Amino acid sequence: MKKIQKYTAASLAALLIVLFSWLPLNGQAQIERTERPKNVILMIGDGMGISQLSSAYYFPDKKDADREPSFSRFKYIGLVKTSSGREVVTQSPAAATALATGYKTYNSAVGVDLDTVVRENIVEILSRKGYMTGVIATSYVTDATPAGFYAHQPERYMQKEIAMDLLKSDIDFFAGGGSKYFRDSTGVFPFKEHGIEVNYRKLKKIRKPEPGNRYGFLLDLDYMPRMLDGRGDFLPRSTSIAVDFLSTGEAGYFLMVEGSQIDWAGHVNDVDYMKAEVNDFERTINAVMDYAEKNGETLVIVTADHETGGFTLGASGENDGYGDYSIIEPRFASTNHSAALVPVFAFGPGAENFIGVYENTEIFRKLVSLMESE
Ligand code: MG
Ligand code: ZN
Repeated sequence: MKKIQKYTAASLAALLIVLFSWLPLNGQAQIERTERPKNVILMIGDGMGISQLSSAYYFPDKKDADREPSFSRFKYIGLVKTSSGREVVTQSPAAATALATGYKTYNSAVGVDLDTVVRENIVEILSRKGYMTGVIATSYVTDATPAGFYAHQPERYMQKEIAMDLLKSDIDFFAGGGSKYFRDSTGVFPFKEHGIEVNYRKLKKIRKPEPGNRYGFLLDLDYMPRMLDGRGDFLPRSTSIAVDFLSTGEAGYFLMVEGSQIDWAGHVNDVDYMKAEVNDFERTINAVMDYAEKNGETLVIVTADHETGGFTLGASGENDGYGDYSIIEPRFASTNHSAALVPVFAFGPGAENFIGVYENTEIFRKLVSLMESE
């Protein structure tokens, strides 16, 4: 009898241990493992569907032709459903809001839900925990995709209000175009009073950042130039500068990097424009992967907000079923976005949680769960 009691007590203890170790895990429904990244780099190819990224395999830049495109460096790959909260085909503001806040909303909304209620974004959540944060875009920094990560406005075209939101936000680093949106009514740029040092001329390493200082690069009054018009290495270089700066914080960092103009090339159905923008984004991913492999504490997520243009890589020739299968003839089916699922690539601590087919809002949930788990 005594022996049985002892045995039961041991079983109960074992059961409790199992329960206690299982319960916290179960609380974060989507997360299978608790390996926690210190940093997250979220890379968004605006309008980058499967065919767009495939073009990097068939039409690489000459200087990158001797290596496999960086998408091949990821082992954990999934597909994301992109429909907004109101429309089956999303636009960038709703997609950015879904990725940044976990809420589906209407197509032109930035950081607010279907009822225009302000929803907290991942930058706000992580900043509260001491993380440093940054956004980079190859359009303007107040454009819908980056804005989703710091702004709360009912309409994407409220650029001045979105610019004010950036000033008041927790964002420590930003780079892109769009300085004209920051001028106040007297023509002054009100950055100093918000503790932000802005460079309007060129990218430059941030040598000795003062604790608490914020830094911006606004290299064009309007959007950044196209790759075809000489944007050069802005995207990989600003990303590297951001990573160096954001790494100075002890808690870790969150950085969003957008290849913004893949989408614009799709809207105007310009194949050469699209190839150049995809290749620029791909090269930036490659540099980020070089860093992340060495660093070991950084989760890299590459995804898209939606596909643009119904882009295809069909065999050349007439649409009669007898094409020339030795030649790819890139074509667009539309000048709008499409509802095609978009890929997500993950690398680093926690990356295995990003396989499968799921809603874009899950990316937010997975990231927050991972960053909050200990
Ligand atoms: Mg965008
Ligand atoms: Zn678009």
